Amino acid sequence: MHPRRPTRPIFVGNDRTGIVQIGGGLPDSAGRESTPAPVSVQTMTAGYTHEIDKCVAEIHKLHAAGADIVRVAVPERKDTEALPEILNQTSVPIVADVHFHFKRALEAVEAGVHKIRLNPGNINDRVQVIDVINACKDAKLPIRVGVNEGSIIERKDKQKRLKELGAVFSETKYGYMLAIMITKLEEYLDIFYEQDFHDVAISAKSMDAAMVIDAYTEISKRFDHPLHLGVTHAGPKETGCIRSVVALGTLLANGVGDTIRISYANDPIYEVEDGLELLWSLGLRERKGAELIACPTCGRIQVDLFTLVQEVRAKLNEIELPLKVAVMGCVVNGPGEAEGADVAVFAGNKRGIIYVQGEKVANIPEEEILDRLLAECRAFEARVRSGEVKLGEKKVDIVPPDPEGELGSGWEKMAAERIKGAAQVTVGRT
Ligand code: SF4
Repeated sequence: MHPRRPTRPIFVGNDRTGIVQIGGGLPDSAGRESTPAPVSVQTMTAGYTHEIDKCVAEIHKLHAAGADIVRVAVPERKDTEALPEILNQTSVPIVADVHFHFKRALEAVEAGVHKIRLNPGNINDRVQVIDVINACKDAKLPIRVGVNEGSIIERKDKQKRLKELGAVFSETKYGYMLAIMITKLEEYLDIFYEQDFHDVAISAKSMDAAMVIDAYTEISKRFDHPLHLGVTHAGPKETGCIRSVVALGTLLANGVGDTIRISYANDPIYEVEDGLELLWSLGLRERKGAELIACPTCGRIQVDLFTLVQEVRAKLNEIELPLKVAVMGCVVNGPGEAEGADVAVFAGNKRGIIYVQGEKVANIPEEEILDRLLAECRAFEARVRSGEVKLGEKKVDIVPPDPEGELGSGWEKMAAERIKGAAQVTVGRT
């Protein structure tokens, strides 16, 4: 993991919603020193903004799932007219996504929204852009500039600049596209700088994960504004997840990126859940709730582990502290793979043995595993809260269960797979 790239922070929200800082490490536009803020998670409502009750309900749901910022589309006047009531009924910073008419941006600012997103491909009249900049400046609102392939304001030296950048990027697969993107950003942001406006975040999304990595990497070298990462039109969750995680994960591991939006052709709640899991996995945010470790199963399995894992996952939602919980199919590799788990179960022939920080606490039939595991998780969480134990703290080395005696008849299968090695395996941190 590389250190976070320092950026000029922006601030989204107000005293009522709480203020989300995006980026940091450089002085802000008022000259105040800053430190990098945790990477935030954004998403966007899928319904119509002018359907106020539904929109508010969706925002509440996304906020409760962990979204730090929620964006709404405002394509029509009736959408910006709905904003005051939506803002009144919600308590998370709201971004108005303006695509087609600069007046929607002015109306959204007037309504009290917390940030504006402009698309240079659609709002490209210099006078109109300046109107929006000045409105945001007066209201002290930041703007995200989301560059895309659409053309923006022409500048005199565009061809020359394209040629220069084209040469710079000639080695990369997306050289010409990158040259266009950088050129567009430069000319669009020039308008902002001329107005002495610097509360800007940048995005440069593409549906191509490799292009996203190249584009944000180049932009991160040329601008000191915080970056909003995303793979656009990533598709259904199943494949969109891979595209998004490979692009955003690569950038974040390289220290690039200050806020993320994963986008799926699905319920945006998954965008929030997967965005948070990505940041937790990289250690960029403090995990909330339990972390589940589970084995993929193999020919040694003797319980219905897939069903058990899904049931445990659903029920673990009630755990608030970041307990590490392991659900392992057998004892051969289970103890080693579950290292560091606070609560773990190792299954055998229709049975499971449960450990709490290395101590064996139960040997139970398969049908009792779920309830007992959850009971141990709840009890352990209560002990952590009372200060009796600490998360990730090992009490004793695990003594691997005897697969022949304690876990039933798995011996023949396991004997062929170095079961003697299991005797040396320990669980937990040393
Ligand atoms: S824990 Fe056991 S059942 Fe699960 S994958 Fe490893 S060896 Fe196979």
